[in-house]
Amino acid sequence: MKSTVYNFASGPAQLPPELLAQAAADIVDWEGTGLSILELPFDSDEYRAMAARTEADLRDLLGIPENYHVLFLQGGAYAHMALLAMNLLGNDSLANYVITGHWSWRAATEASHFARTRIAASNRETGHHDIPPPDTWHVDREAAYCHITTNETANGIQYHFTPDVGDVPLIADMTSDFLSRPVTISEYDLIYASAQKNAGVAGLTILIINNNLLNDKTGNLPAVFDYSRQAASGSRINTPPVFSIYFTGLVCRWIKNNGGLLAAERSCKKKSELIYNIIDSQPTYCCYVNENARSLINLCFSLPNAELHKSFLEQASAEGLKFLDGHAAVGGIRASLYNAMPYDGARKLSEFMEDFAIRCQRS
Ligand SMILES: *Cc1c(COP(=O)(O)O)cnc(C)c1O
Repeated sequence: MKSTVYNFASGPAQLPPELLAQAAADIVDWEGTGLSILELPFDSDEYRAMAARTEADLRDLLGIPENYHVLFLQGGAYAHMALLAMNLLGNDSLANYVITGHWSWRAATEASHFARTRIAASNRETGHHDIPPPDTWHVDREAAYCHITTNETANGIQYHFTPDVGDVPLIADMTSDFLSRPVTISEYDLIYASAQKNAGVAGLTILIINNNLLNDKTGNLPAVFDYSRQAASGSRINTPPVFSIYFTGLVCRWIKNNGGLLAAERSCKKKSELIYNIIDSQPTYCCYVNENARSLINLCFSLPNAELHKSFLEQASAEGLKFLDGHAAVGGIRASLYNAMPYDGARKLSEFMEDFAIRCQRS
């Protein structure tokens, strides 16, 4: 039996206990076949059926239109920041990036080695505390795409709208808010997400890509990095991350059985409200993100000094509230409230925070 700890890490993150139990059983004997899920050859009918089921459940959950491919790749979102530029851009084409924090900056930097990139808008100078209003963005009409990061995992900033960038294809890194709320897929041309935040376990990067973007053959990419070739081969050019694909299927069905993405979104709102209420009512805590851009998934805030920061983390950890340290590039505290974080975990954290603040003010 696992003891009750709540894992507030940004990723790999907390997973639903019932899915861990299911996976443990399937590692020994997958669905009564006498095979371990870890032993499935990737050219077997069994593997194909399993991967097709994960894809069907993902399509159903997100309402992915027919004219989009779903790719199950590796490398993590970080690798695809460069790979998508290599796939979608010729030597002289241009891509636009909207900078809202750590990960969108990384995305622009990675792409800049392979293409001309231009920053359409940035909140960098003002300190990463809001989303620049879309009517101030400079989106180039001839841009091959405009890239956004829907949830800035390190900074605690989230889009609560889909920006309109006209005819320019919109690309989104959704790694940390994927499957946390409904998305109108047709508003985007490419969505990518690592699985280990909210959609499963490490090893899998999911791409949802408009077929239009696959027509273009840009040249001499290694086969496994070539989106068109991966799409044509059912993401089976080389060995796919079998277990991670299986686990994402479990997560999709778990979300569905718990009311779908609308219920997931409601749960995110309820859990994050508990924490933000304490932040806003206790002077010990400071959240520098503007209210309308606050993330419901990764809540970032800070304490007045390094000493209090340290004792907050130590005391929280002693109470089973783990991994609350902020991203190294940003500092502060970060509480990640993915789908698998139960309401009770958020409540326990909010109670601890209130108690900690009151003790600070007394001393
Ligand atoms: C975690 C994260 C990444 C990096 O994911 P890897 O799987 O480590 O490559 C990229 N973008 C966002 C928004 C993230 O949260």
